[in-house]
Order: sequence, then structure tokens, then C-alpha cells
Amino acid sequence: MVKIKQIIEGKIASLDEVGNGILYSGKDRIFVRHVILNEVVRVRVVKKLQKGYAGELLEIIKPSENRGKVNCGIYDRCGSCQLLHMKEQAQHTYKLEYLQNLCKQAKELSLKCEGLLSMEDPYHYRNKMIIGFQRDKRKKIRAGFYEEFSHTIIPYQNCLLHPKECDEIVQTIVKLMEQMRIEPYDEDSRRGLLRHVILRYGEVSKQIMVVLVVNSVQFPARRNFVNALVKAHPQITTIVQNINTRKTSIVLGNEERVLYGKGYIEDTLCGLTFRISAKSFYQINHAQTEVLYKKAIEKLQLKGNEKILDAYCGIGTIGMYAAGFVKEVMGVEINKDSIKDAKDNAYRNHVKNIRFICDDAGSFMQKMAQQKEKLDVVIMDPPRSGSDECFIRSAVGVKPKKILYISCNPQTQIRDLKLFKKLGYEGKEVLGVDLFPHTFHVETCVLLQRRTM
Ligand code: SAH
Repeated sequence: MVKIKQIIEGKIASLDEVGNGILYSGKDRIFVRHVILNEVVRVRVVKKLQKGYAGELLEIIKPSENRGKVNCGIYDRCGSCQLLHMKEQAQHTYKLEYLQNLCKQAKELSLKCEGLLSMEDPYHYRNKMIIGFQRDKRKKIRAGFYEEFSHTIIPYQNCLLHPKECDEIVQTIVKLMEQMRIEPYDEDSRRGLLRHVILRYGEVSKQIMVVLVVNSVQFPARRNFVNALVKAHPQITTIVQNINTRKTSIVLGNEERVLYGKGYIEDTLCGLTFRISAKSFYQINHAQTEVLYKKAIEKLQLKGNEKILDAYCGIGTIGMYAAGFVKEVMGVEINKDSIKDAKDNAYRNHVKNIRFICDDAGSFMQKMAQQKEKLDVVIMDPPRSGSDECFIRSAVGVKPKKILYISCNPQTQIRDLKLFKKLGYEGKEVLGVDLFPHTFHVETCVLLQRRTM
């Protein structure tokens, strides 16, 4: 039996689904961050977990040749990138093998992983950033990311995943907060004004949105703050005040005020221009989203006369792209801000064969099935929690020829594919697209077709 504080040496036998290394001590498993398969390491056992123990890495006795240089000062504390210590090729192998294993474990699906499309230059790709603020021990305001499972901010200057201009804006915000005495919000005392800043960046348009999440309807230095920020960074095209006075770790509140510009940014994706508001969903990696959408449409081999549904459509990006290849598209999405953006996006791109409905995808699909509506193709792209039984059963009920399932969580996707298979729809191959380099996350895409009896 492993004991807390025990020092253990050994070889990393495998990696888990979130990129942690697993070291065995007898039958006990010790999970270690930032290590690589086959590395020999020394760790201290620090905590009992449900599945084994957590180990703190003390020394890498024999490093792997797959270990790369980490150009990030806060990598040890920040939990955002789990794989940054691996060379790009090793990250590719890790994600590909992960997908291959998932397919192998789900024996009843007879699914194969056809590959993983990696990003050419996998840095500065995030187009949405969430920053917190705190005073440090010397009473200086620091901007940073929340440490995993805590309220502590890890200060940072530059992040390898952020566009450089955005990190410069964050530094200016800190300076202005000091000058204008704008207090960072403190979660424990619930005092202070500025809770978070969200930045959204248009990769093609270069437009930047700043969302100031404030703990009050009042924002005393508002005008001066906005003027000074825009003057220092003319790339900022809009600034939004979001009001969140609740005791919650959810970043955004319901109420919003546009302080500068139009309240949204625009960006071009797959040749179409999209408006993106503060609360709307937009894929965070522009280059790889284009790769994903193109592959998805290719897989569908559309003929031009199809009627398709884009379920969980966000601001309508994939549906509007697909509209160029088919007769008619419907998009369904639960978030009303996204639907507002989606409708405006169709109008501004002169896409006339698409309409959007704000509804729960499952309820909407159920109505379609009850009314015996016909659909040729369903594209579905649910959140990390996956789809649900109501949606899947009703989707099968409308008997589409093809269902294209895009997912940002292969585990819930596999779970849903099992139900689809029971109901007569199956896929042969999973394609991985790396939308999230340096993290354990991976996007996947599977084409399902009705089993012919
Ligand atoms: N297809 C889009 C968005 C995918 S993200 C794109 O590629 O950009 C998943 C989306 O599902 C989010 O916009 C979220 O708001 C939406 N969503 C979550 N639960 C939903 C539900 N029950 N019904 C409909 N949409 C939902």
C-alpha cells in the first residue's frame, strides 16, 4: 500500500485521458502531471484520489526524447495546457492513440480512427480569453488565470496560446485599474468592482472585443477607462460591460451594456462573415475550425437537393457554410444571443436558404419526428456533455440518410454512438481534428449512416 509523503521511483507506464502519466507501485496507480510515456521519474505521493494517488514530480531521472522546451513561466501552476512539455509530434501521437484506444474499447461500435489533423503553427490560436484580477502580497494588481481548484490568480504576462495584442491589452487594463483605482473583485469578501475581462479576437478581421465583467450596475470611472483603453489600443472595436453581482463562479451575468462600438465583433470563416457577441459560442481556433468544417462537408458528399438540420448550431457557422452546398438548412440552438447573431449572419451574407430556431435541440427534434417532417441530413455538434436520448431517438425517427456528429468530447460522443447503433445508425471512422494544441482536448467528427437490413 502506498503511503502519503512516500517517495517512489519508476517508469511512466501509460498516460490517462487528461494527459497525466501513470506510475505503478504494486497495483496502486500514481497520477503525475507533465511527464511522458517511459520516462523514469521520482515522485512524492501527495494525495489519495478515487482512482489511486496524486504524485508530485520531484525529478525526471531519465527524460524522454519526446520532451520539448517549455517556453512558459507559469506552466507548473497553470492547468490550462497539459501537454506543453511534449514535442508536437508526441502530442499528435498521444491524441491519436487516445482516439484509437477509445475506438478499440467500444468494441460493439467497430469504429476505427482514421487519423488526427494537427495544426501547422500551434501557437497564439485562442480567439477567446478569460482573465481574472487580484492584488498580490505587495498590493499590486495582477492579471492572470485561476489556479486549478482554487481562487488564487496565477499572474502572467504573455500566454503562448493568446494573440500577442490581447496580452498587451490586459497589461494596459492593469495599469488603468491602478491609475483609476478600480478594485479587482474579491470572491471571499465579495468586494471590489472588476471580476473578469473577456477578450474576443477576430483572426481575419483583427477586431477585438473587450468584455468588462463588473460586480455592479455602477461603473464610476467608466468613460475615462474606456477612452484611455481605446486610445492605447485602437484595434479594440467594441467594449461591453457585463453585470454580474451574483455569488457564483460563472463568469458572465445576464445584463449587458455596450460602452463602445457595436457590441459585437466580426470575423470571416470559410469565406463567410460572422458577427460574434459577448455571450455567443464561436469555435476558439479559427484555422482548425476551417479544416474541420471542410472535412465535415466533404464527408457528407452533398448533391445539392438536400434538406439539412444544423443542431446545436451556435451562431450558425457550419450551417451557413453547408447552405452553399444544399437546398435548405435549419439551425437550432438554445442560446438566444447566438440565435440573434445567427439570424443577422444569414442576412449579412445573403444566405437565403437557412432559418434559425431558438429551442432545445431535443424538444425541437421531437416535434420534427411527431410531425413526420423529412430531413436528408442532420449535422450535430453538442457541448461537452454530449447529446441526449430525446434528441437521438427523435433524430432517428425522422430517418435522415446521414448524420454527421461533431464533438469536443470523444467520450460522450462514443456513449451517444452506442445508442445510435442500437437504433440502426452507425459510423465506420472517427476523424480527429486538433482544435486545442498543447491541451488534452481534441475535436472529432463521425459520419453515421442508416444500416441497410
Ligand atoms: N456548431 C456550432 C456550435 C457548437 S458548440 C459551432 O461549430 O460553432 C455547442 C452549442 O450547443 C452551443 O452554442 C450551446 O449553446 C448549444 N447548446 C447547448 N445545449 C443545447 C441544447 N440542449 N439544445 C440546443 N443547443 C444547445
